[in-house]
Amino acid sequence: MSYVDQVYENVVKKNPAEPEFHQAVKEVLESLRPVIEANEETYRREALLERLVEPDRQFKFRVPWVDDQGQVQVNTGYRVQFNNSIGPYKGGLRLHPSVNLGIIKFLGFEQIFKNSLTGLPIGGGKGGSDFDPKGKSDREVMAFCQSFMTELCKYIGADTDVPAGDIGTGAREIGYMFGQYKKIKSVYEGVLTGKGLSYGGSLARTEATGYGLLYLTEEMLKSNGHDMAGKTVAISGSGNVAIYAAQKAQQMGAKVVTCSDSNGWVYDPEGIDLDALKEIKEVKRARLTEYKNYRPNSEYHEGRGVWTVKCDIALPCATQNELFIEDAEALVANGCIAVAEGANMPTTMDATEYLQKNGVLFAPGKAANAGGVATSALEMSQNSERLSWTFEEVDSKLKNIMVNIFHNLDDAAKRYGKEGDYVAGANIAGFEKVAEAMLAQGVC
Ligand code: NDP
Repeated sequence: MSYVDQVYENVVKKNPAEPEFHQAVKEVLESLRPVIEANEETYRREALLERLVEPDRQFKFRVPWVDDQGQVQVNTGYRVQFNNSIGPYKGGLRLHPSVNLGIIKFLGFEQIFKNSLTGLPIGGGKGGSDFDPKGKSDREVMAFCQSFMTELCKYIGADTDVPAGDIGTGAREIGYMFGQYKKIKSVYEGVLTGKGLSYGGSLARTEATGYGLLYLTEEMLKSNGHDMAGKTVAISGSGNVAIYAAQKAQQMGAKVVTCSDSNGWVYDPEGIDLDALKEIKEVKRARLTEYKNYRPNSEYHEGRGVWTVKCDIALPCATQNELFIEDAEALVANGCIAVAEGANMPTTMDATEYLQKNGVLFAPGKAANAGGVATSALEMSQNSERLSWTFEEVDSKLKNIMVNIFHNLDDAAKRYGKEGDYVAGANIAGFEKVAEAMLAQGVC
C-alpha cells in the first residue's frame, strides 16, 4: 500500500466519526502524492505524515454560563494546537451549534498549510464551541465568552497560541474574551487578533479576508487572460467574509448579484446594496428576509440556490460543504469561469474535480482566504512593536501577500507538472515549508 493510503487509512481508523477531518486529510494528501513519492524514504523513516496528521495537543472543556432567565447553560469548548513548526499556533475560534472536535480538527489541519502559504511565521491551530451567539443578549454572550476564556487562557499566549475570530466570533466576542484574559493573567499582550482598534487591533483586519480573496482572484484571472471589471459575481454568505468580498468586487468594477444566510438567499439583479446588507447583518443582526424592504426589485428565496444564478465568478463565503456537485454542474452550464473559496472547504471534493475538469479556474480556501490570518499576523507584529500602521500600509501588505501566494502556488503546481491545478499547488507550497521545518527540528 502506498504511504499516502496507509496514513489516510490510519487517520480514519484512529479518528472515527470525524468525516470533515478525513475529508481535509484526504484532499491534502492526495494532492501531495508527487512530493511524497519523490521523498518517500525519508518521510517514512521520519514518520513525517503520521506526525503531520496528529495534533500536537487538543483541549476539550466545559463552558458553564448563566442565561438571562437565571438558568445555567453548559457548552463544550475546544482548542486544537495542531502544528507549531514554523511559528506560534494561530487560527480562529468558531462559535456555532454545528461545532464538534472533527470540525475543529479539519480547520486546524487546513490552517497549517494556509498559514505557511502566507510566508509569515505562524503555525496551525483552531478552536471554538457549540455555543450559538444568535438570538443571545449581549450579557449572555459576555457570560459565555468570559467562561470560555477562563479555561482557554491556560493554554494560549502571545508567543504560544494566538486565536482569532471565525464564524460567530466577531469584534464583540473577541473584546469580551480579551478583557477576561487580561483580568485573569494580568498581562496586556497580543494574545488574540481581530481586536478593536482602541485596544491593539489592526486597521483593515475586518476587511482582510474578503479583500484578500479578491486580490488573489484578480491575480488568478489576470494570469489567465481575464479581468474582474464587468464580471457578474455570485457570493454565498452574508457575514464578515462575504460582505467585504462583495465590497472589493464592486470596487474592482464587478457586479455582485447574490448573498445568503443559513435560512435563505437573495438575488438582486441590479447588484447587492452593501449599505443595506451591512445594516441588516452588522447593525440589526437580522435575517436576509429584511433585504427586500430596502430593495423591492430583489428576490428572496428560502433554502439554498445561490449557485443556480448565471455568473462569471462564484465566491462561496459561508461555510464548509456548501457547493455540491449539482451546483458545480449548474455553474459550468451557466458559463462560470472561476471559483475562489472565501470559506474553508465550501466545495465538496467531487464538485472541485468537476469544476477543474471543465476548465473552471479554482482557487482553494487555504490560499484564497489566507488574507485574514495574514493580517492577523500583521496585527501580532504591530502589537509586538507597540505601533499601529495605517489602513493603506496594511492593505498594501495584504495585497502583496495575496499576489505572492498566488504565484507561489502557481509555481509549485508547475514544478510538479500540474499547471493550473491550484489545489495541488497550494497544498504543495504550504507543505514544503512545514516539512522542511519539521525535519530540521528532529523528532518532536
Ligand atoms: P460569519 O459568522 O461572519 O458569517 C458566516 C455566514 O455564513 C453567515 O451568513 C451565516 O449565516 C452563513 N452560514 C454559517 N453557517 C452556515 C450553514 N451551516 N449553512 C448556511 N449558511 C451558513 O463568518 P465569517 O464570514 O467570518 O466566515 C465565513 C467562512 O469563512 C467560514 O468558513 C470561515 O471559517 C471562513 N474564514 C473566515 C475568516 C475571517 O477572517 N472571518 C478567515 C478565513 C476563513 P447565518 O448568519 O444565518 O448563520
